[in-house]
Amino acid sequence: MLDRRDISIVGAGIGGLTAALALARRGAKVTVYERAHRVAEVGAGIQISPNGMAVLETLGIADEIQDRAVRGQAIELRRSGDGRLLQNLRISAIRTNNPWLFVHRSDLISVLHEAAVDAGVGVKCNHQVVGAEQSDAAVTLQFDGRQDEASDIVIGCDGVRSTLRSVIGLEETPAFTGQSAWRATVPLDSQTPAVARVYMGPGRHLVTYPLRDGRLMNIVAVCEKSDWHEERWDVEDNPHNMRSAFSYFAPEVRALLSRIESVHRWGLFKHPVARRWHSGRIVLLGDAVHPTLPFLAQGACMAIEDAWVLANELGTTSEISAAFEAYQDRRRDRCARIVASADRNAWAYHLRGPMRFAAQNILQIGKKLAPNAAIHSLDWLYTTDVTKS
Ligand SMILES: Cc1cc2nc3c(=O)[nH]c(=O)nc-3n(C[C@H](O)[C@H](O)[C@H](O)COP(=O)(O)OP(=O)(O)OC[C@H]3O[C@@H](n4cnc5c(N)ncnc54)[C@H](O)[C@@H]3O)c2cc1C
Repeated sequence: MLDRRDISIVGAGIGGLTAALALARRGAKVTVYERAHRVAEVGAGIQISPNGMAVLETLGIADEIQDRAVRGQAIELRRSGDGRLLQNLRISAIRTNNPWLFVHRSDLISVLHEAAVDAGVGVKCNHQVVGAEQSDAAVTLQFDGRQDEASDIVIGCDGVRSTLRSVIGLEETPAFTGQSAWRATVPLDSQTPAVARVYMGPGRHLVTYPLRDGRLMNIVAVCEKSDWHEERWDVEDNPHNMRSAFSYFAPEVRALLSRIESVHRWGLFKHPVARRWHSGRIVLLGDAVHPTLPFLAQGACMAIEDAWVLANELGTTSEISAAFEAYQDRRRDRCARIVASADRNAWAYHLRGPMRFAAQNILQIGKKLAPNAAIHSLDWLYTTDVTKS
């Protein structure tokens, strides 16, 4: 179905490269346009849960990613002040054979990039898309200071501040959540368990997990603070601000924070899931169409699932608009449910006063009486394999 169909992808992030690989494997002629001067990611970690790994397994790159990752054993919910364990979500209890990985973003991007190039994908860096025009026969991308390029289909994988989203008329005003997030890594000198720890305090929480054979600790910390409005990761902050926001957290957290030399900060905004994901020959995926708060670790996993489903629909349906519509139908409700679940976690992690006390008691009772109930309540999320459905 896709034999030599000419497809342009805007953005060489996790979504764009996964889509490129999946489409090239189905015979499409794929070119990825990336505005940065090279394909890379900022130096921090990402969790890929079994639903995302199902796609990477089917694409044949799961082992290579796993070789560079830490295989997660559990998600631990902990009390902020003393670090006491409130709930232990055992990953082995999830009814799936796919692993849950903690991986450095640049390692994941480099495996995806290599696999895409091996599959025949062309990747053009220093190509910033500024607009697109479509006719019945083709769609033409316009670049900053470069020649236009025409193709049959354009897939906008250009992230949270997507140019392609505006091109297809999806203007929206994101709402600032009053929260900002810091992201950092610190080297570790001793072995640490392969678990993600979520330390929950009033109005803030902090997540740690190990990367690269446990040689590096990834730290993401979110705090309700209305003084930061930049919705981008390339803005550096003074590590002192992060340390002071978490100064009463458990000693092991403070020890990690004391070693941070450089940190990036990002304002967290809520975006509605787009009502329409395509127009004419242009279609969107990943953060371009359903950005999410990072409280369920699913933004990249959704982009990976989108990429597979879109490639599959394009590969089986000859008419472009029918394929795009089928893709949107298969993805929209699931993504909206995931985004809403992440919003709820934002609230639950930051409880204050008596609500917090009550929630901690419930977690501890749950840990004793039904240790796997919490993780099984997310079966709908983690056990889905879009390559089989
Ligand atoms: C703190 C934090 C922690 C997170 N942790 C997790 C996690 O553990 N697990 C998880 O699944 N998700 C996580 N996420 C979400 C995840 O990072 C994103 O959802 C994911 O990276 C989205 O991928 P994408 O390919 O859609 O967009 P992006 O990764 O944003 O890629 C977009 C690409 O497009 C390029 N681009 C943009 N505009 C243009 C243009 N005009 N022309 C050409 N190129 C362009 C960009 O340079 C970039 O390379 C987290 C997010 C945050 C903020």
